This record gives sequence, C-alpha cells and structure tokens, in this order.
Amino acid sequence: MGRITLTFPDGNARDFDAGITPADVAAEISKSLAKKAISASVNGAHHDLQWPIEADAAIAIHTMADDGPALELIRHDLAHIMARAVQELWPETKVTIGPVIRDGWYYDFDRDEAFTTDDLAAIEAKMREIINARDPVTTEVWDRDRAIAHYRAGGEPFKVELVEAIPEGEAVRMYWHGHWQDLCRGPHLQHTGQVPADAFKLMSVAGAYWRGDSRNKQLQRIYGVAFKTRGDLKAHLTMLEEAAKRDHRRLGREMGLFHFQPEAQGSVFWHPNGFVIWRALEAYIRRRLDADGYGEVRTPQLLDAELWRQSGHWGKFRENMFLVPDEIPATEDEDTDPVISGEADLMALKPMNCPAHVQIFKQGTKSYRDLPLRMAEFGCCHRNEAHGALHGLMRVRQMTQDDAHIFCREDQIAAETKRFLALFNRVYGDMGLTEITYKLATRPETRAGDDATWDRAETALAEALTAAGLEFDYAEGEGAFYGPKLEFHLTDAIGRTWQAGTFQLDYVLPDRLEAVYIGEDGERHRPVMLHRAVFGTFERFIGLLIEHYAGRLPLWLAPRQVVVAPIVSDANAYAEEVVAELRARGLRAEADLRNEKINYKVREHSVGKVPVILAVGQREMAERSVSLRRLGDTRTEARTLADITEELAAEATPPDLR
Ligand SMILES: [Zn+2]
Ligand SMILES: [Zn+2]
Repeated sequence: MGRITLTFPDGNARDFDAGITPADVAAEISKSLAKKAISASVNGAHHDLQWPIEADAAIAIHTMADDGPALELIRHDLAHIMARAVQELWPETKVTIGPVIRDGWYYDFDRDEAFTTDDLAAIEAKMREIINARDPVTTEVWDRDRAIAHYRAGGEPFKVELVEAIPEGEAVRMYWHGHWQDLCRGPHLQHTGQVPADAFKLMSVAGAYWRGDSRNKQLQRIYGVAFKTRGDLKAHLTMLEEAAKRDHRRLGREMGLFHFQPEAQGSVFWHPNGFVIWRALEAYIRRRLDADGYGEVRTPQLLDAELWRQSGHWGKFRENMFLVPDEIPATEDEDTDPVISGEADLMALKPMNCPAHVQIFKQGTKSYRDLPLRMAEFGCCHRNEAHGALHGLMRVRQMTQDDAHIFCREDQIAAETKRFLALFNRVYGDMGLTEITYKLATRPETRAGDDATWDRAETALAEALTAAGLEFDYAEGEGAFYGPKLEFHLTDAIGRTWQAGTFQLDYVLPDRLEAVYIGEDGERHRPVMLHRAVFGTFERFIGLLIEHYAGRLPLWLAPRQVVVAPIVSDANAYAEEVVAELRARGLRAEADLRNEKINYKVREHSVGKVPVILAVGQREMAERSVSLRRLGDTRTEARTLADITEELAAEATPPDLR
C-alpha cells in the first residue's frame, strides 16, 4: 500500500497509508479528538470522517468549535433525522429531498394527509429520541442500478427518479442514520448524538412542487431552524418575533404608507404618507449629488431591442426584461383581445439605466478634460421577477434607483472610488445606519467580456479600495455580468444584515456601446464606467428604514410629524392655529378634531407612529402653550408654542441642511 503525506493547519506534515480516513487520522492524534471530531477539510473541500484520502493533501479536522462546518452538519443531519422521524411515525410517507438553507433546513414529503401543528410537535419528540439514541451514521458507495432496484423495492418513486437522473455508470452515495437510509452526497456527523437536542425547532409546513415545477405533484415542505446551542436558538426566535413586529408590510398598512394589489404584481401604490418619505429622501440625495458634481438626466422607459442587443442585456439579462411590441395591435371589436403580429419589432422596458446614459455620453465629442463625467438619474426600471420571488418593498418589479454612472479615465478610478465611498458613508451616517461591512464581488459564471478585462477590472477595484483605506472581504462569483462590484452589507437595529447601494466597475459596456473620448494624446479611448447607487432603490431603502426604525422614523422622514389634539372642543380653533403655525415652519402637522377622548387619540396615533402629539385645552389656549407627548413616552411636558415650534422645526431639518 502506498504512503501519502497529510499537512495539518499548523504546517506539520505526517505520512499515512493511502486510503486512511480522517476518523483514523483524528484517532492517531488523540482519543478526545477522535470523539469530538465532526468532519474534515481535505484540500479545502468538506470531507466526511469516513471517506478515505488517497493522495497527499492539506487536512484540518473539524469539531463543534468550527462554526461553519458545525452548523452545516447539524442542519444537514437534522434533515435526515427529521425524514426518518416522519417515516417512523407515518411509514406510508414518501421522502424526496431536504437541503440545508439559511438558519436551518427543509425536507419535502409526499403524504396524503396534511401535517398539523400537533404533528410537528410529535416529529420533534421523535427526532429527540433519535438524537438520544446516538445512532451511528454510516455510508457506502453503491452502483446506480443497485440503488434504483433498492428504491423500487422500497416504494420510493421520488428517489428512483433522483437516481435515474444520475448519469449511467456513475456511482451513488448512500447514508444511514441508524437503520434509516437516504441518498446523499454527504458529509455527515459521526452519530446522531452529535446533534444538539435542544437547539432546533420545526417552524412551519408549506406546499412545494416536486422539483419546483407546478406541473408536478404537490408535496409538503417542513421547515426547521437549528443552532449550536439553546441560547442561540432562543436568540434567533426572539429576533424573528422582533422582525415580525417590524415587518415593513405590516407597518406600511398601519401607517397608511402604501399597498400592493394583484393587478400590479410587485409594483407599489404609494399613498400620500408613504410618498412623503420618498420625496424627503429624493430631495436629500439630490442635494448631496448636486454638491458632489453630478448632472441629473432623464432617459426613456422604452428602448428598442437593438440597443439591448448591443449592450449585452439581450443575451445575459433577457429573462428579466418586459418586452413590448412596437406595433399598434389589431382589434376586431372591443370584446376580443388585441392581436399582435409575429413580425412586430420588439422594445423593452429598461431594466437598468446604463445603456441610455451611454447614449447621452455619446452626444458630441468628449475629451479627457470632460472626465470624470458624473451622470445621475432617479431612473424607474422594470425587472420581470417571478411572482413567488416578490416580497413587499424588498423585491419588486418596478423600482426607482438613485442611479448614476461616472464616465472616467483609468487613472481616475481610484479618486472616484474614494469620492463615492465618502458620499456613501456620509449618507448612511445621516440615516443612522453606521454598521457596514464591504465585499468585493468578482466575476460571475455568466458574464460579458474576456478574462483579461475581468483581471484588469477586479485588480483596479481592489487597488482603489485599498487606496481608500477600506477593509473588505471577497464574494466570489457575485459580480454583475459586466464587471466586479463592491457590496455594502448593513447591520440593522436587530442584527439582521441587508444589502443596499452598489458600486461597480465596468470596462465592457463602454466598449459594446462604443463610447469614446479623445485623450491627451489626441487618440480615441474608451472611458471606464462606474455604476453606482447610494440608496439602491427607493423602494427597498424605504423598506429597510421602516424595519430598522420599527416605523419610528427620525422626525425629518416621519410622514406625519405632528398631530395637534384638542382635549375639549372649545380648543378646536386654537388647535388649528397651532397647526397653521407649525405648517408655516415647514412641519407636516394636522389637527385631530374628532370628538374622541385624548387617550383614544394618543393610542391611535401611536399605532400610526406619529412622533409628536400636542394636546391643547383651555389652559394651553390661555397660555399659548401645548402639552407635548413623544411617541413611546407616557410623560407629557408643558411647552410654550413659540418654543416647541422652534425645537421641532430644527429637529425636522434634513441632516445635510442643519
Ligand atoms: Zn445528507
Ligand atoms: Zn448601470
């Protein structure tokens, strides 16, 4: 038998017989490591303790202390353990697939009766039994035909289909958790007892089609979440509760901001209260852009398919575009649907503003002295997302970006990157979002441009970020199809992370659309294009602010800033006078003259997240004062009208104008 050399993370290397398993390696190091080991990394790949190693390799043995592999295995083993529990409880149930997802896993089952909440509790109890039994996890490689015969005999038609999809002649890996068997690539833990029995929970049941295709049989999907400790699980459940309270869709309803309806899937009906937030943000960012040397433009919604073909969107982005025939439809009468001929030229609603901005750049001759040229547009774009993928303001089909493109020379990339980062951080600081991490997203699988261009773009961006003193991680393969991008990951008030804003470096589009400037040398050159957005889209950014602030937006963004509520109807006229005074100072104030008790009004406006309520009665009227109550505060404070007007006007001033 041959010998192989395994190199450990500390740099030490040792020779072993070829075919040794990581479990044996761990055992040779120490008894306790053999017990604690959960899996290994072999040349960076996640490796089961039972799989043999045949050649020289770098190896690391993982234990529960290694978060990444530990969480993946806990969740993956729980998927198997749950499927086993379900089949032990209801043997007629057919099993399908069960992948690991964010925070947990799911498994799809075929069962005639619907799973109930009580069933979930029974499954959880059975899972704990299996965990406590500490059943060994074992694995074997079978040939494909044996696996098919096995699943046919066992009455598992979905598994038969899965194995049949594996190319003929290829081997199939099987796993057992105790007596229970599943088809699986692995890796897995050593035994079921390595799964923490008190750190998982089954969350819900939902319908799901076999292989995600609505023509196939509908299955039942059970979702679970799992962590390393009971404390982590509790923290996660608390976060979910808090997130539900902050859900922007719920707050949007309670605050009267916007609504959706089936006739306009994924497009927002903004109500006056919601659109006030939009307008405040737009006015704010427009001032910031004006000050930063951007010129604002507006470009067409509908553009000919030919332009999208040139830009490359037609090839790489077509399934996300709404197409419109450039033809007047034939109509027989008003009861029949209009008819489009097969010959109609196609146009598309723009999914991005970039190609249109290049058209403006190309008007007239540009010289090196014209660069950098910063072109901004609050551009309304449409992207054809599947109905099921839409999510409130966070994932929409019609979106407006605070978009801009910077056309510059290669030697200006570093300075423009630095300038944008300064703008970005200033804006997010103003919004109260200060926990930001950065990732450089590199070339994706589907992309335009050759590798040399990508090398150049990725290096240029990385160097510019380093020059700007920014610390960042890499997100491999996550770039846009035309260039690498910088991702901004924000952490909100309850610890969730969101992506917002973008900064992308692009050599491809100026080339495809033949943008040119005359250099100092008198020759024609291609400009570099920086695609950037600070908010990202208004829709998503407003959704994010609502959730971050749980609806209690800073005064300058609050849609309804002040409600003046008379305690007695005799004070109605004074209340209206107070409102007029506040409005004269630019505040969004309204009087609530309904014949209701003050406590009722306060409760109602609290639900609507009105930050300031001013109660007025006989005494306030006589003294020209108000009784101030802030949202979430039970105390009231007597203030003179002159005083409070001054204070609120200052507080409602946008941060850049203070
Ligand atoms: Zn598995
Ligand atoms: Zn762009």
